Amino acid sequence: MSQKVRVRFAPSPTGPLHIGGGRTALFNYLFAKKHGGDFLLRIEDTDQNRYVEGAEAYIIEALNWLNIPYDEGPRKEANCGPYRQSERKELYRQYADALIESGNAYYAFDTAEELDAHRKDHEAKGKTFIYNWHNRLKLKNSLVFSEEETQQKIANGEEYVIRFKTPEDETLHLNDIIRGEMQVETNILDDKVLFKSDGMPTYHLANIVDDHLMKITHVIRGEEWLPSLALHVLLYRAFGWNAPQFAHLPLILKPTGNGKLSKRDGDKMGFPVFPLEWKTAEGDLFSGYREDGYLPEAVVNMLAFLGWNPGTEQEIFSLEELISAFELERVHKAGAKFDPEKTKWFQHQYLQTVDDVKLAGEFGEFLEAKKVSTALNLTKIVSLLKERATFVTDLWEQGSFFFEAPKTYDTKATEKAFKAETPEFLQIVVSILNTSEDFSAGNLSEKVKGWITSENIGFGKVMMPLRLALVGEMKGPDVFDILSILGKKESISRIEKAIDFMG
Ligand code: GLU
Repeated sequence: MSQKVRVRFAPSPTGPLHIGGGRTALFNYLFAKKHGGDFLLRIEDTDQNRYVEGAEAYIIEALNWLNIPYDEGPRKEANCGPYRQSERKELYRQYADALIESGNAYYAFDTAEELDAHRKDHEAKGKTFIYNWHNRLKLKNSLVFSEEETQQKIANGEEYVIRFKTPEDETLHLNDIIRGEMQVETNILDDKVLFKSDGMPTYHLANIVDDHLMKITHVIRGEEWLPSLALHVLLYRAFGWNAPQFAHLPLILKPTGNGKLSKRDGDKMGFPVFPLEWKTAEGDLFSGYREDGYLPEAVVNMLAFLGWNPGTEQEIFSLEELISAFELERVHKAGAKFDPEKTKWFQHQYLQTVDDVKLAGEFGEFLEAKKVSTALNLTKIVSLLKERATFVTDLWEQGSFFFEAPKTYDTKATEKAFKAETPEFLQIVVSILNTSEDFSAGNLSEKVKGWITSENIGFGKVMMPLRLALVGEMKGPDVFDILSILGKKESISRIEKAIDFMG
């Protein structure tokens, strides 16, 4: 029997979850659920300097809002916890020691100043300083010092780090589900620090140890980690562990296609790059999809198409459909251009699927916040307006006239529609409305249209001024629907006001 699929999303809490992080989380979730596996959240907070208060809570809230909850993680402790690396601190040292023991790692005593001097020296010669096989025997480390000297330095309290001893002269054959096989020469790699002088592991060590202990079978992460793949594979080998399979997701590019989408781009270009609003400690506010009125389903659908497609024409996918259609093999290598217009398109499609009663409830809250009180049938109004709406706010833009009688009339339209005979026509409409017990759109339409036809007047001559009287401009749904919703009293009052205006 094959192993149970276990994947993890492993953000560092250095800020809010960016679209790219959301996409990584989603692809992990889809892959796990497709294979009946587990989706873990692991908080990689070994770099204390970059820790940002509130980031972890934000990440969890964002995953919940997107409806892609994790099975194990902080606040959902299970067998492989704790799921915050800072709480696993004690665990990593023994693994670094084991690598020293097996000859795969060494102590390095070079100070920050010394390394800096090497760097500057190389730069002056137009070179780059790399700490690896070609110079490690000339630097200050336990490969050079005797065992006693090394132990003495440690006993003296000299600061040191533990570095990986990258093997020499080897061609590695690395595999990635999306990218296929890649070859890397070990000689170009540097001896990365695994354990820092502050007693904390680096990302590389903690990540491999945790993926192993948490029984991760597939590592699905952003392309920016591809350069670390060789080291990671070498670490698994050095520990004698089976490596998981890897899939590196393509970069997300700016809408122009020029470069990576950055967190500043969104608000500069007028769209959010974060699922939820985020306020920095300095008081900067970044907009979020949730607060901008997007539905999580629309955002998920948009994220799914950032670097993946199902190979068919279908674009609208529920989460369930995504789970069954998703395949890592169909993820592209090339960067995925972010398209804010397409996101709006998804949002428009999803808004149409929201039940009218539910949408009316949300519209009602919006009106309340605007201090607009109304006794009108919001469900009916919403059902008429939503076709032209992308956000709940558009319902107001399309239909504010239901709640506020026009104060002015669109000048261009009045020139066309208000003619000498118009007051007389509108008077007749008023009398038809007055005598109509049944105020349904159907009945009103039949009566008014019946009169227009029998008098041979021409529809535009009545319908245009009537719409202007009710709405103030030439927009909105069917005039008879509007009359029916506004009711007899309000409709007549608006028409009489328009007649006065013309008088
Ligand atoms: N902590 C890394 C990040 O913030 C995780 C990389 C990985 O998934 O291995 O992206």
